[in-house]
Amino acid sequence: MNNLITERTEKILKQIPPGVEAVAAVKTRTIEEVEAALLGGIRIIGHNYVQEAGKMFLAVGNRARWHLIGRLQGNKVKKAVRIFDMIETVDSLKLMESIEKHSARDGVIMPCLIQINIAGEKTKAGILPSGAERLIRESSSFRNVRIEGLMTIEPAAKKEDEQRGHFRSMKSLFEELKNSNPANAPLKYLSMGMSQTYMTAIEEGANLVRIGTSIFGPRR
Ligand SMILES: *Cc1c(COP(=O)(O)O)cnc(C)c1O
Repeated sequence: MNNLITERTEKILKQIPPGVEAVAAVKTRTIEEVEAALLGGIRIIGHNYVQEAGKMFLAVGNRARWHLIGRLQGNKVKKAVRIFDMIETVDSLKLMESIEKHSARDGVIMPCLIQINIAGEKTKAGILPSGAERLIRESSSFRNVRIEGLMTIEPAAKKEDEQRGHFRSMKSLFEELKNSNPANAPLKYLSMGMSQTYMTAIEEGANLVRIGTSIFGPRR
C-alpha cells in the first residue's frame, strides 16, 4: 500500500515541470503514509489542521517544509508559527496582525499567501479578488509577515474550461498585483490546483500545486 504511495509520488513529480513545486496535502493521513510520500521525493507537506500537524511534525520535522493550507483560527496562531514555514490561507488584516505578533515574538519572518475566493462562493474562505490589493498594501507595515503570493481553492466544477477560467483569473490578478511592485511583498507563488486539476493549473501559471488523493488514494 505504502509502496504505491511512493510510486505515485515519483510519477507525479516526474510529470511536473521545473519551477513548479508539489505540496502533499496530508489531512487524515498517517505518518507512515506521509513517510512513503517523502520517500517518493515530496519536500513540502501541506496540512489543514494545526493540532494534527504538530503531532506529525514530531515525527517528520525538517525533512520537509510545512505549509498551512487550512483555515487558521486566532487561538492557533502561536502554535502555527512554530510549525509552519508558510501560511497559505491568510484572508484578513486581523489574522495578519496576529501572525505578525507571534512571529515577532519568535524572531521569525513568516512567508504568507493571500487566499482568494476566486469564484465568490458563499461558503468558501478567502477574500474576493477585489480585496487583495488592499490586504497586500496593509501588510507592508509588518516586519514579520511577508506576503509572497496568492492561493485559491478552486470550485469543484465539472467542466475543465470552467476550472481553466478560474485559474486564468487568478493568474491575471497575480500578474497585476506583482506589476504594482508592492512594498515588502515579493509575489513569487501562485498556489492553485489539486489532484483533479493540477496539470490545468500548471498550464495556467501555478507554481505550487497541492495534491492529496492522487498521491495517497481516496480519503478515509
Ligand atoms: C485536501 C486539500 C487539497 C488536496 O485535495 P485533493 O483533491 O485530495 O488532491 C488541496 N488543497 C487544500 C486546501 C485541501 O484541503
